[in-house]
Order: sequence, then C-alpha cells, then structure tokens
Amino acid sequence: MSRISKAERQLQLQREELGDHLYANRVRVYPKTVHGPVRRFKWTVLVFCLAVYYLLPWLRWHRGANQPDQAVLLSLWHERFYFFNLEFWPQDIYYLTGLLIMAAVTLFLVTSLIGRVWCGYTCPQTVWTDLFMWVERQIEGDRNERMKRDAEPLSFDMVWRKVLKHAVWLGIAFWTGGAWIMYYVDAPTVTVEFWTATASKEVYFFTLLFTATTYLLAGWAREQVCTYMCPWPRFQSAMLDEQTVTVTYQGWRGEPRTRGKRHEDVPAGDCVDCGACVTACPTGIDIRDGIQLECINCGLCIDACNHVMEKTGRPQWLITWDTLADQAAKAQGRQTTLRLLRPRTLIYVSALLLAAVVMTVALLTRSSIDLSVLHDRAPLFVRLPDGDLRNGYTVKIVNKTQQMALFELRTEGLNAASLAEPDEGLGPADRLGLMVKADSIGTFRVTAAGQPNRLVGGSQPIDFILRNTETAEQTVYRSQFMGPR
Ligand code: SF4
Ligand code: SF4
Repeated sequence: MSRISKAERQLQLQREELGDHLYANRVRVYPKTVHGPVRRFKWTVLVFCLAVYYLLPWLRWHRGANQPDQAVLLSLWHERFYFFNLEFWPQDIYYLTGLLIMAAVTLFLVTSLIGRVWCGYTCPQTVWTDLFMWVERQIEGDRNERMKRDAEPLSFDMVWRKVLKHAVWLGIAFWTGGAWIMYYVDAPTVTVEFWTATASKEVYFFTLLFTATTYLLAGWAREQVCTYMCPWPRFQSAMLDEQTVTVTYQGWRGEPRTRGKRHEDVPAGDCVDCGACVTACPTGIDIRDGIQLECINCGLCIDACNHVMEKTGRPQWLITWDTLADQAAKAQGRQTTLRLLRPRTLIYVSALLLAAVVMTVALLTRSSIDLSVLHDRAPLFVRLPDGDLRNGYTVKIVNKTQQMALFELRTEGLNAASLAEPDEGLGPADRLGLMVKADSIGTFRVTAAGQPNRLVGGSQPIDFILRNTETAEQTVYRSQFMGPR
C-alpha cells in the first residue's frame, strides 16, 4: 500500500474541508399557492407575455408581392429583419446595437427605481417557471400535498402524476421551442413542413434544442438559474440604493416576532412567525432577513403575509413595497417622501432620451439606398495611352425599395473623369446608369479614369456619388484613386 507524506495528507484534509464548505445539496423549494393582488397582477403579466410570445409569429403584415407577410420575422433566407413596416438589412446592424443599448439602460433605470421587477415579472425564466409550477400544482397538488407525496415510497398515485406532469411540461417546452423557430421562418409554412417531415434539419435541431432548454430550465433548474446561473443579480446591487423601492419586511413593526399567545407585559410585534412568507417564496428565502441576492422582487410574500394579517386582525402590508430610507425613517417615527429623481436615475433617463432621439432621427432619415465601393487589389492603376490613369472598382448598390430602380453613378475628385462598366459595355462617360432589381443588391465592375488633381504618396480620395433617378435620393461613398508615387 502506498504511503502519503505528511504534506500530502494535510492537502487532502484541506480539500475535504473545503469540499464540505463549497458544496451543499440542493434544498428543494415547494412554493405554496398564494392569492391576492400581487399574485393576480403577476398572472396578468404572465398571460400577456406568453400571448405575445406564442401569437406574434402568426400576425400577418402585407408588404407586397414576393415579400414575407409575417409581421415580425428575422429571415435568415432573405437576410432581413422585418418588424411591421420596418425592414432592416445586415448593413443596419447599428440599429440593433442602439436597441440593445436602450434596453440595457431601461433595465438599469427600472432596477434603480423599483428593484428587480424584471426578474420577478417579465424575465422568461420567471414566466416559464411560474407556468410550470402552475401545471405542477394542478397535477400534484399544493405544497403540503407535494411534500408529503415526495417523502412517501413509490406508488402508482405518485408515478402517474409525475409522468403526466413531465409530459405536460415537455408539451409546453415543445410549443415554446417551436414558437421560437417561427420568428426565423414563416410560421404557417414551417408548421406544415415540420409535421410533414419536410422542414430543414436545422428547424428540427433548434426546435429540439429549445424544447430541451425550456424543459430543463423551467422544470428542473427553476430558482437555481436566478441564484447561480444568471449574472444579473450579481451586478444589480450597483443599481440599488436606499431610495430604490423593493419588497421589504417592516421589521420595526413586525419585531419582536411572536408565536402563539401574547402577553400584555411582553412586547410583541405584528409578525406571528407563521412562516407563510417563506413557504410562498419561489426562491425559498425569508424576506425578514433583509434584501438578498435570491430575492427576485416578485412580491408573493406580500400576498401571503397580508392574508395572515387579515386573519389575525392586524393591519396589512407588514411586508410591503418600500425604500430602505423610508423604512429607516419609519423606524424612528418619521415620514419621508419618495425621491424618484436622483443623480443615478437622472443619468439613466438622460442616456435613454439621448439614445431614443438618436435612434428616432436615424430611423426617420434612413436611406433606402446603400453604396459600397471596393478598390481592385491588382493592378492598382493602369496608365492609358492618352496619359490618364485608370482604376478598377467593385461597386455594390443596395436597393431597399420595392421597385426596380435606375441609379446614376458619377465621381468627384478627378479632372476629366470618366466611368465605364466594361462587362456591360457601358461608358466611358461622365456618369453611368445602373439598374438594380427591387429589394436586392446589384454588383458592378466599374472603372474610373482621369487626371488625379491631388495625388499624394500614390493615392488621393475620390467620391462616388449615387442617385436614384426616380426619387432623387443620393448617397456618397469615399474611396481612393491610386497612381504612381
Ligand atoms: S422574498 Fe418575497 S419578493 Fe423575494 S422572491 Fe421571495 S416571495 Fe418574492
Ligand atoms: S407571513 Fe407575515 S406574519 Fe407570517 S412570518 Fe412572514 S412576516 Fe411574519
């Protein structure tokens, strides 16, 4: 038998000790059903979010012949993002960047004002977990019934309920995964193709992938996603301050918490230590311990406690929405006013307004044509018999309109400039007429010849000016004209 050294033994002990501290078995959470205004509001948001998600791909939007008629479609086939009347090309990627910036700043603003309501109400993880829990309660019963059955030995009653629950979960997950695909491929078409086994293998792969992730994340991982996987709780603390409205236990009113019979000579707070707020919590925490990373600000503990307060004849809202500043003041018998306008919220609002204005102006002044000009790598230039220099270019014209268009191309920056499109036998002329089909990109081989007037170090700028002859819309692309050094 091999012997281990003293140092190795010490390391082994340290590892074992660390292992004990770093690993803990998951404590399964069995949230209890609650009723009340917060729960009703949460149901309303859930139904709205799910309805938008599942139904939006089926909304039709007429765009003309040969155009997809789905209102919201990220078409990989057409390389376009269609959003009702708007159509974004790959060249418009900066709009997506702007939208992402606006979404992030809005999230920062909302979090600094009213805490993690995104997590508690609209995050897909929360919405689908809530839906899966509802299914679970319909099939396996409420908290006590589920806990009791799970602790019992295997029985027929347990098995059929579990099998049915997982089957329904998988059905919802499949519907969710399928709906996701419909944002990329025309919904009615892909539905028919899917069930007639004629859809592409990518459609089947991604449907199964999103089915599996929905089932695992909402059915099995649940609150573990919020607590361990999601980065948002980690950096949200940078957005919270003492003026942020969050779900708060009013300790000054509830403490000392007292169970059972109360005696006049013993001070007792309103909290009867019933634990209803803990059993209602979908992440299994005790809000009375203060703000915690696991708290998603869903407010279900408010409904649970209000119910207890009502039954025991005490004022409701022992757990409430409030700021830490207001709670500290109330504990001292003072009142404070809510401060919505604070340096951080003002910064977020300013950033949001700025981004919104930039995006709106950019959208309103969006061009329906795009031009790019790529200089030939070789030869860089050719000297013509008459002494002029000639350069070759690849010109790409994006026609985003729904009509075939005739474009006029000319240059600025050369003396006695002439353009030609040798492949089509056009030119040389001071301007070229180039035809581009509706909603497509035209690629042309163009040569520009002339006398460079400010050639420095072998090159000078040259502007290509493109004009839609129908609409007079114009765009300019600056390239380089090459010559001898
Ligand atoms: S403590 Fe209350 S608000 Fe926070 S997650 Fe639990 S139930 Fe929701
Ligand atoms: S539900 Fe209310 S009364 Fe019951 S333990 Fe929680 S805070 Fe106390």
